[in-house]
Amino acid sequence: MQFTVAIDGPAAAGKGTIARGIADRFGFAHLDTGLLYRAVGRRTLDGTPAAIAASTLRLRDIARTDLRTPEVSDAASKVAANPEVRSALVAFQRDFATREGGAVLDGRDIGTVICPEAHVKLFVTASAEVRAHRRWLELVEAGHDTSEADVLRDVEARDARDSVRAEAPLRAADDALLLDTSTLTIDEALDKAAGAVQTVLESRT
Ligand code: C5P
Repeated sequence: MQFTVAIDGPAAAGKGTIARGIADRFGFAHLDTGLLYRAVGRRTLDGTPAAIAASTLRLRDIARTDLRTPEVSDAASKVAANPEVRSALVAFQRDFATREGGAVLDGRDIGTVICPEAHVKLFVTASAEVRAHRRWLELVEAGHDTSEADVLRDVEARDARDSVRAEAPLRAADDALLLDTSTLTIDEALDKAAGAVQTVLESRT
């Protein structure tokens, strides 16, 4: 069975948590596509030109444990505006999306560009303040010394860059279900998302 769930949204809206939860509940494979851009961004910080870093990306680059720092987030959203980088990463994402057994991909352009034919499309969002607070808690927990105000600034700068770029900007697909997680617990958000997936799965049988 091929079944694709596309989850898009801005930074720290909860899409990764929802994507992992959907993958667990339904037994689908999960790809966090932000990791691809983070891995390319990381390699540019190490001196590799962005287009080369993207076209020679290997699985071990994505498995690096230093991809979640603010420095790499910033580098990722810069390389993500580069059309050569984006096109080098398309085939891998589409192959993943159409694998047997179902797949859930989360990112910025999954429902609009990578998988416009996805069976379920969700656009997960939350206010910038709520998202910055969540990201700040994650960073502090991981041992980073940073202020909430700095994280809010980074989140807003990244949102702006991701939304205005010419190539695959962050936007909800016309047929995406909007899910605002600002006032939802993780379980509530996941239940809503899983309900949408269940409805479409049942309609196919
Ligand atoms: O989702 P995450 O915050 O890890 O993504 C890092 C950056 O990668 C984003 O700010 C965005 O610029 C870029 N990205 C993208 N398209 C995707 C996933 C991530 O442009 N599908």
